[in-house]
This record gives sequence, C-alpha cells and structure tokens, in this order.
Amino acid sequence: MVRFFDASMLQMATCRECGGEFVAHAYDPTRGYVCGVCHMPARAGKTRRAAEAAASAAIATA
Ligand SMILES: [Zn+2]
Repeated sequence: MVRFFDASMLQMATCRECGGEFVAHAYDPTRGYVCGVCHMPARAGKTRRAAEAAASAAIATA
C-alpha cells in the first residue's frame, strides 16, 4: 500500500458529501469526489446504519 503512495499511483480524496478521506486512484478527479458510501443509490437509504455497513464492506474489499 505504501509503495503505491510513493509511486503517486494513489492519493487521498476528500468526499464532498461526508468530508471523509478516501484512497482514490491518481487519475480519478479529486474535486467533487464522492465516496462510495455517499454515492449509494437513493433507495439504499441515507441512514447512518446503512452508511456504516457500506463503509465496512468497502474496507473488507479494499
Ligand atoms: Zn462520503
């Protein structure tokens, strides 16, 4: 993981919705970045519980 940062392949992007910092690919736009948690389909709900579940899933698959 650290090697990728050193190579500038990855960077931190701040989510414009929740303000959280997430690892984003260097080629992804960081302005107006929205994390996977905030970018869920509306029908998935915006509840804190749903967000935490999605965050856990994201970490598990990272
Ligand atoms: Zn977010």
